[in-house]
Amino acid sequence: MKIPGSIKKTVMVIAATAIAAGCLMPAQGAAPMPKTQPGFYRMMLGDFEVTALNDGVVSYPVSRLLPTATLEQIKSGLSESGLTDPVGLSYNAFLINTGQKVVLIDSGTGGKLDDQPEFHGAGRLMNNLRAAGYRPEQVDEIYITHLGPDHVGGLTVGTERAFPNAWLRTPKAEVDFFLDPVKAASTLSKTPDKDRPQAKSYFDFLRSLFEPYISAGKFQSFDGDITLVPGVHALATHGHTPGHTSYIVENRGQTLIVIGDVVIMGALQFATPSLGSSADADPKAAAEQRLRIFKMAADNDYWLAGGHISFPGIGHVRFRQDRYWWSPANYTIP
Ligand SMILES: [Zn+2]
Repeated sequence: MKIPGSIKKTVMVIAATAIAAGCLMPAQGAAPMPKTQPGFYRMMLGDFEVTALNDGVVSYPVSRLLPTATLEQIKSGLSESGLTDPVGLSYNAFLINTGQKVVLIDSGTGGKLDDQPEFHGAGRLMNNLRAAGYRPEQVDEIYITHLGPDHVGGLTVGTERAFPNAWLRTPKAEVDFFLDPVKAASTLSKTPDKDRPQAKSYFDFLRSLFEPYISAGKFQSFDGDITLVPGVHALATHGHTPGHTSYIVENRGQTLIVIGDVVIMGALQFATPSLGSSADADPKAAAEQRLRIFKMAADNDYWLAGGHISFPGIGHVRFRQDRYWWSPANYTIP
């Protein structure tokens, strides 16, 4: 639209007069800084809606996460990603609405274990779920990648189920290792004396999270790479824990794999998949699964969604110049 010259001139005269008279808007102090951050991110996968939910970001020294990384690997990995040590580590979960079922993959920390530095400040998932337009009662299915506290802590609020209408489905190998009382007793008997009380309290903690679902008849374990609801399939990726499982989400020719803790520190592990995390129960198997997932995703142009890749943790992995690279999702509005 073109503004006629005469009007433009009149406006300039009024403005100049106002400035000269000092009667423009009175000066204001700086606006307060809200210092909050949206904690959900949304994309469509075919007709499925995928919502990444952030549970928190915790500052972590890289050498504690990846104890076998050399100083040189840490330095070059961080500088390539523009990061400094300690790194803000994201805690992510993913909500998939297939149009028929609302599926939550992992549940965050639930704000539990907040006294431990590695979980302090997490527990935001429920608020972010609501901010994303969902209520906990709308979740039909919960699938667990593994029984890490940052993945199952949010299953309960107090002693109640946090998702009162959901079926909780968990890989059998995880259930056998962490929840079976006989197996847990055997593991504890082999645990060094000094670590035993802490290990026992961890097993008790895990059981307290699952018990409300078991009592309500809303718990099921599953074995193998099965289809859980149309469009969502389990994919065994054992290594990080004995039954660690990823979930393949497919619709209209698009595929996304929710990979839990296959990757903990993207800034180093895409370039060097052999680098294990301090939490890998079987570092060799975990590294093999990392490579397998990277190759599968890169070869087929699948999306990946990671439990600890910088929020929203969704993107593609590419193979170039003899190594893998992370390519984060482009921001979109569904
Ligand atoms: Zn984790």
